[in-house]
Amino acid sequence: MKLLTELYKIPAKTGNEEQIKYFVLESVKDIPMQVITDEIGNLFFIKGTAESYPCVAAHLDEVHLPCERDIVVDGDVIYAVDQANERVGCGADDKNGLWMIIQLLRTEPVLKVALFVLEEKVSDDIPGCRGARACDLSFFDDARYILEIDRKGISDVVQIGKDDTLLCPADFIPESILLQYGYQMVKGGKTDVVELKMRGLGIPVCNIGCGYYNAHTNEEYTVFSQLTHALHFVQEILKKV
Ligand SMILES: [Zn+2]
Repeated sequence: MKLLTELYKIPAKTGNEEQIKYFVLESVKDIPMQVITDEIGNLFFIKGTAESYPCVAAHLDEVHLPCERDIVVDGDVIYAVDQANERVGCGADDKNGLWMIIQLLRTEPVLKVALFVLEEKVSDDIPGCRGARACDLSFFDDARYILEIDRKGISDVVQIGKDDTLLCPADFIPESILLQYGYQMVKGGKTDVVELKMRGLGIPVCNIGCGYYNAHTNEEYTVFSQLTHALHFVQEILKKV
């Protein structure tokens, strides 16, 4: 849990991802793998050598303004307060995705990772998913699929994204795994992998619930046991799909 509370303390407002990028790189520096960055600031990792890779994704930025945060752990529930002890967002959207991917880099022998900057929409004039829009799609040429870890709650696999964008076939994840972990295929909104599909990416993608609630508000929180449950679900998919 310490890694997660450390992530929550780091300011990562859209456009100011340097600090969180540095933290992620420090957290994985002992893991032998290839680290790639691109011009806009996205981070990519390639661990192991294979003819084809499973790929996971998350975004580095959060919507919340920077402030000194204390992280409160109340049993299984984690949230942030400011120096006046008022609730503030902790950026669980999408630091839960970053947390999970750091775990996966430790457990999975073969994995590709994409961590995007600039996912959150800033205003009507400054749209979201600018990192995903600018990235080089050829990174995914030898990827079989992308699991983005960026969905609220603990039961959704987003299969159809914004503007009815088909992300993956309905049977992409075997029914038995969905049932075992209590997930279901749903329609959802926009995130990086939806942008990649809109750009014409050919492989299946989806967005998986990772235990955060009330994203983009001061009442944002995470249920830690749900985040670890989501990790086990993703590990099962990586093993079987
Ligand atoms: Zn998000």
